[in-house]
Amino acid sequence: HAKEQGKARLEVFDESLRARAMARLEIEAGLREAMAAGELELHYQPKISLADGSLYGLESLLRWQHPVLGTISPATFIPIAEQSGLIVPIGEWVLNTACRQAAEWRSRGHEFVIAVNLSPVQLSSPSLARVVDDALRDSGLPPAALCLEITETAIMEDPEAARRVLQSLKALGVKLAIDDFGVGYSSLSKLKYLLPVDIIKIDKSFVDGITDCPDDRAIIAAIVSLAHELGATAVAEGVETEDQANALRALDCHVAQGYHFSRPLPAYRCFSQSEILSAASPALSPALRAPT
Ligand code: C2E
Ligand code: MG
Ligand code: MG
Ligand code: MG
Repeated sequence: HAKEQGKARLEVFDESLRARAMARLEIEAGLREAMAAGELELHYQPKISLADGSLYGLESLLRWQHPVLGTISPATFIPIAEQSGLIVPIGEWVLNTACRQAAEWRSRGHEFVIAVNLSPVQLSSPSLARVVDDALRDSGLPPAALCLEITETAIMEDPEAARRVLQSLKALGVKLAIDDFGVGYSSLSKLKYLLPVDIIKIDKSFVDGITDCPDDRAIIAAIVSLAHELGATAVAEGVETEDQANALRALDCHVAQGYHFSRPLPAYRCFSQSEILSAASPALSPALRAPT
């Protein structure tokens, strides 16, 4: 009896493994078509200056509207895109689309800095700097209006190589941000690799604990003062409550981003600063809304 149960469990296990493998293959095959089929789109999440509630910039976040499966999260398909190498053409599409969109907004007088996430796979591609340069030239976007977000973990995988790439990107005149900072176990001696970085994004896991956990608050205080020392801007990600925003402001954190202010918005809702700020969550205190 026990043996039969064991066998049944094993079959169930096999079934779910097979289902997952199928899902993976389906996602991979679908991804190959998605770009051409126009199923990929970028949403844009506001970054808010904590001092005055003004718009600091927008982060582009990839969305896949699958015709059958619905919206698929980047957390699901980016790892598959990375393992299959598809992240390289997809990443190129993201850079071109974000730069073109930002240039269009600029032509209407809205000078947002636009951030694009880079995968570690793109970071180790020898054509990255050329791809970024092409996206800037083709769109006419000034380099300083583009910010590239690279995770701390990606940099620390091979700090020497990352530093060379970061310097080649920096030489184009773009801004560099280190994403999900604080979870990558950088030792102090490795911090010199961060030197060309303009922005340090404090990982959401610390922001989650800022009001209740003294350790998280202390880590955020340390990252903010590190950013100040490096002449960089500190940005807190994943800010969900007003208490968190107030605590970050009290610690002198410059910029915050999160559902408290706004979810990522489709491009058509990012028409102007006041439109973006009024699309933001009703939780956003009136004092933080930009003067109209
Ligand atoms: P990330 O760059 O750290 O982006 C932040 C993620 O947190 C986004 O998830 C965003 O929607 C979400 N978020 C923002 N505010 C809040 C909040 O207050 N609460 C919570 N719970 N979540 C919040 P998303 O869009 O699902 O993206 C997940 C990750 O996928 C990104 O993390 C990034 O690493 C990757 N990604 C997204 N777009 C791209 C892309 O174009 N290229 C590459 N290579 N990676 C991308
Ligand atoms: Mg990011
Ligand atoms: Mg992040
Ligand atoms: Mg994060």
